[in-house]
Amino acid sequence: WIARPDSLQKPVGGKAGVTPKSEDFNRWYLDVVKFGELADYGPVRGTMVIRPWGYSLWESIQQYLDRRFKETGHSNAYFPMLIPRSFVDKEASHVEGFAPELAIVTQGGGKELEEPLVIRPTSETMVNHMFSQWIQGYRDLPLLLNQWANVVRWELRTRPFLRTLEFLWQEGHCAFATAEEAEKEARDMLDIYVECATQVAAMPVVPGRKSAAESFAGAVSTYTIEAMMSDGRALQAGTSHNLGQNFAKAFDTTFLDSNGERKFVHQVSFGMSTRMIGGVIGVHGDDNGLQLPPLMAPVQVVFVPILKKDGDEAGVMEAVSQLAAAAQAAGIRTKVDADPNKSPGFRFNYWELKGVPLRVELGPRDVEQGSCIVARRDRPGKEGKSNLSMDEKEFVAGIQQALQDVQANMYTAAMDFREANIVDVESYEQLQAAVAAGKWARGPWAGSSKDENIIKEATSATLRCIPFEQPEGLPKPCLLTGAAASEVAIFAKAY
Ligand code: AMP
Repeated sequence: WIARPDSLQKPVGGKAGVTPKSEDFNRWYLDVVKFGELADYGPVRGTMVIRPWGYSLWESIQQYLDRRFKETGHSNAYFPMLIPRSFVDKEASHVEGFAPELAIVTQGGGKELEEPLVIRPTSETMVNHMFSQWIQGYRDLPLLLNQWANVVRWELRTRPFLRTLEFLWQEGHCAFATAEEAEKEARDMLDIYVECATQVAAMPVVPGRKSAAESFAGAVSTYTIEAMMSDGRALQAGTSHNLGQNFAKAFDTTFLDSNGERKFVHQVSFGMSTRMIGGVIGVHGDDNGLQLPPLMAPVQVVFVPILKKDGDEAGVMEAVSQLAAAAQAAGIRTKVDADPNKSPGFRFNYWELKGVPLRVELGPRDVEQGSCIVARRDRPGKEGKSNLSMDEKEFVAGIQQALQDVQANMYTAAMDFREANIVDVESYEQLQAAVAAGKWARGPWAGSSKDENIIKEATSATLRCIPFEQPEGLPKPCLLTGAAASEVAIFAKAY
């Protein structure tokens, strides 16, 4: 579906060349990536070069998660990228799940290697190899680690940020003495993902449990946050896995408990990746390009001085510099774009495409009147423009308030869209109709993995999650089998 279309090079139609979203979501997405200068294709199919604007979005997610992981007792570590092939083979369901996606190194230094090396697709095996040496007794537990790294999964269908062959992520790896602690950790880390998505990325998510068929290869249970993109498709934006003792048994990761008994540890892993940036694009972007939540925006306010005739320059530029300095001193990320070779309209457009939340327009008449114009990215046109006093204190307070308003409004808009596009269904026919209309279907579910597959084959929709938050009035007949269902599940087409 994306297979290197020429649209990264040759956009058509729309404002400033962005394909209207309603016309072709896929082209629109790629146009936003291109015009927002977020990423470009790498020379190897499925790989991507993350450009500075895109990378700074990753940094904002990184900074938030890194702080929260450390606050909850985790330390960062780094494990090698090359994993002996035999490690991956040790845990049966893990190897089965990952085998088709492995990239394998067979040569080194010009010679055939004795044992092929896997480029890490995830690090449970490598981590367990080390944990089995580091963990001896109950005093070594819990062990709470996180790694910031790249991973490689040989994906067949790729799309910048959403699904790439190599991606950046964090992977948490923890070991506990008891099953209860492990389960709590898996849920707590998912809560951090919920916070990150909702509070930083202004992206509403449904937290829940994956079905057995959709769980991580080697996990006892997988928890997920699912976001709705603005074409109605679901995006798995982060996952945490209760691994139980599966890897511990495969790698003999044991400890002596306080009674001197040898036991297998209970483990958890969790990951969030550069896919989140694809989520921000797909949830918030519009026909004018990218739209960034203020808390993620590398530039929160761009100042565009409007210089009309000779002699204007000094007064306007002085006022702009003062206001920008005052905003910066208050911790607001600012940028002044006074490029004399580009018209104000061109500069407006450029920063809109890059998703900057606020624009301050300031011309000679504004300086005379002591007020400037603030334009909000989330409210295009006149509706989003207001006057703001140039008194420094009032100006900074006004900008801070506007940034908060944009952040909140973006979340609300995305939430309203999502709620309007979830359909409660009670039958298979209703599910099919909802999915065909591009919506999520939520209904009573007591089906098996086989039943799930029937739906997948017929509609391309997968079981996204069984939400933690369940409605009242259950059990009800399963939408497919009619058996008593004590839970509802969400089905949708996904990225
Ligand atoms: P996993 O270890 O498979 O649960 O992956 C952790 C998270 O990484 C998933 O929840 C996805 O959000 C993300 N992810 C998985 N595969 C890719 C990919 N090919 N490109 C980007 N992100 C991915």
